[in-house]
Amino acid sequence: VAPTEALVRQLERIVGPGHVVTDLEVIAGYTADFTGRFRGHTAAVVRPLDAAQVAAVLSVCRAEGVALVPQGGNTGLVGGGVPLRGEVVLSLRRLDVISDVDPVGGQLTAGAGVTVGAVQRAATDIGWAYGVDLSSRDSATVGGTIATNAGGLRVLRHGDTRAQLLGVEAVLGTGEVVSHLGGLLKDNTGYHLPSLLCGSEGTLGVVTAARLRLVPPPHEPVVALVALSSVPGAVELAGSLRRELPGLEAVELFFDEGLDLVCTATGVAPPFARRHRAYLVVELSGGEPAAAALAGLLEGSGAMANSAVALDPVPAAALWRYREAHTEAINSIGPPHKMDVTLPPATLAEFVEAVPGAVTSIAPQARTWLFGHAADGNIHVNVTGVAPEDEAVDAVVLELAAAMGGSISAEHGIGTAKRRWLHLNRTPAELSTFATLKRALDPDNVLNPNVLLGG
Ligand SMILES: Cc1cc2nc3c(=O)[nH]c(=O)nc-3n(C[C@H](O)[C@H](O)[C@H](O)COP(=O)(O)OP(=O)(O)OC[C@H]3O[C@@H](n4cnc5c(N)ncnc54)[C@H](O)[C@@H]3O)c2cc1C
Repeated sequence: VAPTEALVRQLERIVGPGHVVTDLEVIAGYTADFTGRFRGHTAAVVRPLDAAQVAAVLSVCRAEGVALVPQGGNTGLVGGGVPLRGEVVLSLRRLDVISDVDPVGGQLTAGAGVTVGAVQRAATDIGWAYGVDLSSRDSATVGGTIATNAGGLRVLRHGDTRAQLLGVEAVLGTGEVVSHLGGLLKDNTGYHLPSLLCGSEGTLGVVTAARLRLVPPPHEPVVALVALSSVPGAVELAGSLRRELPGLEAVELFFDEGLDLVCTATGVAPPFARRHRAYLVVELSGGEPAAAALAGLLEGSGAMANSAVALDPVPAAALWRYREAHTEAINSIGPPHKMDVTLPPATLAEFVEAVPGAVTSIAPQARTWLFGHAADGNIHVNVTGVAPEDEAVDAVVLELAAAMGGSISAEHGIGTAKRRWLHLNRTPAELSTFATLKRALDPDNVLNPNVLLGG
């Protein structure tokens, strides 16, 4: 149901007239996703200031039978945060306050609209770090990263977003506000609602704030770019790094075609004189001694000759850029289909070698670009040259990943993009439990009705 004029007036009374956006030019920034693959429409974007306003907005929309799509930084990659069927967009960006910063316990409370980058800076200011990092850090929000259980570049070291959550405040689909922001490290008092809401993709409740645990900052980081002649060699080296280097912070993977694209799109020179099949970006804590341990390990594996090591921030950032620029470089050549999968270590290399051929077997004109978080077995499969609505390549890639023992979503979520294939990873009993939870917490299906189970 589309919002009526009368509903818009009611929403204005809750959040103030300036915060119900109906100007189509401004609205355009909220109705298409980052990739341009998912485009929707809406008559209104509502921008509440706090949990009480969120609850009031939800309650009037529910009474009118109008669905809501919560939205944070709109960097999501599975079409979950845009109003594909004319829903009202509930933008959480004004909930952007950081409070109750505890330098002793290493914790802070962040509103849903605070960006990951702002949490990182607030943590650094008190001598700590935030365990989640991703290339979209300056736009992705605390609420969005909780809703998707974002992973990113430090999962190897600190776990995913769920692992950082000490508590949440949220407005459930029933309109009820649940809040548990005390931040106790040990608190076994029943169901752990933060875990349930984390990864629920805005289908059960709207996250309005979170109590986040902080982690010790990396100590004298060392960054290396290592070139390898084969994909199995890269997977094997990633395993050895995890086993041998206790200070390991991140191990990221990309390939020759992706590196060429990044260099063309950004104008940056290639890192090595010669092309290699696979590349790992490795980061570890520990300064000179850690760099020496890494060099010893690379020497043993024969990869030392094709590596660059940086101990200072500027050259280290330049090495990271080859990996971090992949998403934007791929976007620059047209809307990609993004399939974010995890494979067990035993089938990871085989999957990487098989997937481009599987794609061209049904879409000969398509190009496949692969990169990912090597230490987590997480490969981002990007396919360009295919119409946004043509889902045949999605089917081929996701079915291949599942057949090789993998997950169809490592960290981006299901959204609207992958709900057709959720059954590949979840049993009928699990899906029916999901539906029971959805009915209990959002009985009128007012929150993200098209995401995860919907459609
Ligand atoms: C360049 C780039 C790099 C990226 N790298 C990574 C990466 O390494 N790892 C990774 O996991 N992801 C990555 N992403 C994807 C994206 O940044 C994450 O999915 C992020 O968690 C989305 O946060 P957001 O605030 O932009 O959420 P949005 O895109 O606004 O929303 C995402 C989903 O969460 C819901 N939602 C948003 N806010 C709330 C809320 N307050 N309460 C309830 N539901 C809500 C939305 O309805 C939607 O379903 C990347 C994206 C880009 C563009």
